[in-house]
Amino acid sequence: MSGLAPIVVVGGGIAGLATALGLWARGVPCVVAESAREIVPLGVGINLLPHGVRVLTELGLAEALAEVSVETRAIEYRSRDGRLIHSDPRGRHAGMAFPQLSVHRGNLHTVLYGALLDRHGDDAIRPGLRLRSVERRGGFVHACFEDRRHGGEVRLDTEGLIGADGVMSSVRAAMRPGEPPPRGSGIVMYRGLTWARPMLDGRTMVIAGVHEHKAVLYPVRPPRRDGLQLINWVAEHGERFGGDTTAGDWNRPVDRAEVAALFADCRFDFADVPALVRAAEVCLSYPMVDRDPVDSWVDGRVALIGDAAHPMYPIGANGSSQALLDAEAIAECVAASPRDLPAGFAAFQARRLETVNAVVLANRARGPEKLLQLADERLAAGAPADGEPILSGETIDTVTSAYRRTAGFERESLASMSARPRLWPPTRSDATPRPGP
Ligand SMILES: Cc1cc2nc3c(=O)[nH]c(=O)nc-3n(C[C@H](O)[C@H](O)[C@H](O)COP(=O)(O)OP(=O)(O)OC[C@H]3O[C@@H](n4cnc5c(N)ncnc54)[C@H](O)[C@@H]3O)c2cc1C
Repeated sequence: MSGLAPIVVVGGGIAGLATALGLWARGVPCVVAESAREIVPLGVGINLLPHGVRVLTELGLAEALAEVSVETRAIEYRSRDGRLIHSDPRGRHAGMAFPQLSVHRGNLHTVLYGALLDRHGDDAIRPGLRLRSVERRGGFVHACFEDRRHGGEVRLDTEGLIGADGVMSSVRAAMRPGEPPPRGSGIVMYRGLTWARPMLDGRTMVIAGVHEHKAVLYPVRPPRRDGLQLINWVAEHGERFGGDTTAGDWNRPVDRAEVAALFADCRFDFADVPALVRAAEVCLSYPMVDRDPVDSWVDGRVALIGDAAHPMYPIGANGSSQALLDAEAIAECVAASPRDLPAGFAAFQARRLETVNAVVLANRARGPEKLLQLADERLAAGAPADGEPILSGETIDTVTSAYRRTAGFERESLASMSARPRLWPPTRSDATPRPGP
């Protein structure tokens, strides 16, 4: 870079904040422009796969995350009536170099936001700036924002702009005018958090049911003093009710009683889903959407990452982990090509596009949750004989290892990544620049 203007990262969500931390840690100045007037912890539970945790560990955030998350021991796939189909050990419990973590998105966001402010100062992020337009002229990008805090407009001129502005990305809309809205799957996800007695061993995620009627349950915080643990639940149903659900609105409340009634059959010996729903602190709805994969996320000096580039169904816990891998890759590619941002962005795309597009499609085909459908068909054909498993080890292995390979978290690749050095704290004094005036 010529030193004229920091890179502009549009969107201070998971991908945007991780990108900013990664750029600064590699000596590349940037500023995050976030639409929200105030940065507050939002969302419910989120899962971080070992490769996502690796990125956060290298950014020096492992200790802060460990305090607010649960190290997932296993994912248990269960039938509609709660019978165990398969227990899939996760992260270090599967011999990987990094854990899988379940965490409240708000806590994850706070860890990233706090690190950005501590390390690079308040000017590293500008809340209240909502992107309106992007123009490219010569070797510059001119980004125009509505200033939601002070009114009026703010223009930021930069040599490179990274669109990390989520599923309804304005950067993407500018890059791909006329693109249709995200594609609905017909499934609505009812999501919430409830303090309850720990489920199973307090470190297990359960996915029970079938695609069109399923409960996903996992704890997101260590138990508090009274022994209760914050349980994240997602109740997914293939029939819309209660009005419109809109992509991009992550905070849409919905009536607990209606959701509890819809999942009245999900009373298992390890968890009573309707009771969890009724006692929830928050109860939200969100449509399960994605977009068709595209063959480019980069247009010269503008690049897309995270949900802006590749929104995907939240199957296989990949959304935030793939966003973190994007963040790492774009920061590395830009730092490797500081005087030629288009080349850096192109290298980022070459590294990530094909892999992530495959994950989007694998999730559309239900990823590892194919096991639920196969088990349901098997059980519909008659109960297995005593001692016989619902699905054979071979079937389970075929489904789960194919998905691990597609999503890039098979044991071998994660083990070989474990030797990478931490980016933070820095070893060189010049690795901590602060935003310029
Ligand atoms: C409020 C909120 C709650 C969420 N809750 C959950 C959850 O509970 N579980 C889950 O699995 N996933 C949740 N997600 C989505 C999840 O964070 C992402 O799927 C994933 O982590 C990828 O992150 P991302 O940074 O690409 O997108 P996001 O985390 O969605 O971040 C996008 C950011 O861009 C900002 N933005 C959008 N438009 C503009 C604009 N025009 N100008 C400037 N900034 C803009 C948004 O305010 C947001 O901060 C939530 C997202 C948001 C925004």
